[in-house]
Amino acid sequence: MTVASVPGPPREAHVKEPMTKNEEQLRLIAVHAHPDDESSKGAATYAYYVENGVEVLVVSCTGGERGDVLNELAARNPRSRRDLAGMRRAEMAHAQSIIGFEHRWLGYEDSGLPPDGVAVPKGSFADIPIEVSAEALVRIVREFKPQVMITYNEQGGYPHPDHIRCHEISMHAWEVSGDPTAYPEAGEPWEMSKVYYESIFNADRMLRVYETLKAKDPDSPLVARAEEMMDWFTRRPSDATARVEVGRYFERRDEALRAHASQVAPDSTFFFWPNDVQREAWPFEDYRLAASRVPTDAIENDLFQGIVGGVRHNGTNH
Ligand SMILES: [Zn+2]
Repeated sequence: MTVASVPGPPREAHVKEPMTKNEEQLRLIAVHAHPDDESSKGAATYAYYVENGVEVLVVSCTGGERGDVLNELAARNPRSRRDLAGMRRAEMAHAQSIIGFEHRWLGYEDSGLPPDGVAVPKGSFADIPIEVSAEALVRIVREFKPQVMITYNEQGGYPHPDHIRCHEISMHAWEVSGDPTAYPEAGEPWEMSKVYYESIFNADRMLRVYETLKAKDPDSPLVARAEEMMDWFTRRPSDATARVEVGRYFERRDEALRAHASQVAPDSTFFFWPNDVQREAWPFEDYRLAASRVPTDAIENDLFQGIVGGVRHNGTNH
């Protein structure tokens, strides 16, 4: 039975009527490698769009079962040794409830971060060919029908094999989800309009936050901490083309990040900076438009710019 490539009516041949989606509804899909990535790289943006009537779906490619337990308290919980994957699922559900996005697991196994020259484990996410692992994502795209996709850049944002593979399957889905000859068993074609790379931990932002903190509170221990991390901070120069103002959601972003308790210490000086300083310095989350099928401006403040129709901006936000 072929379904996807038959244009127009009659549709009687369908065994099951495909789920119809309201054409006016705006939808955003964000594809991440591990549970917690969505909260450190975009949660404020998702909270902003959810509040403005956009449907937001976060996809986690892997279960994060090979990550380290980075929180001492969580490491003492015996469950972190017995059932790390289960623990991370529960943490993800908690983060989801804080931000209000929909969530799907792609179901692949974390590849871990092997030393240089060592292969990723057999059968892990980064070991599976792109064309195979992309099918599950194409299926989700065709079902959810997002206009906008967010993923990582070619280097994965940071060079973890799962992040790079996340980029690769996202871009494959971007190319083929609208093509009826690709994965014909994976649902009716749906072409997305724009794809972005997240660019949230960029040098411009980190330097501006550091300078603002130093000016306001020069004796803060965080100033010295930032100086120690300066090399890491400045490794990612900003290449952003879209800057979404989401400062009022920083507390919720932090709450979602802390929900991933086995990966994020509640007092992490890597993640948690005074939010009033951050709002003054950089009340944005940054993205780079990687490809678009609609005309857009060179610099945007809304990921849905150029997309006609839709429901958003309930007026409470600016
Ligand atoms: Zn990750």
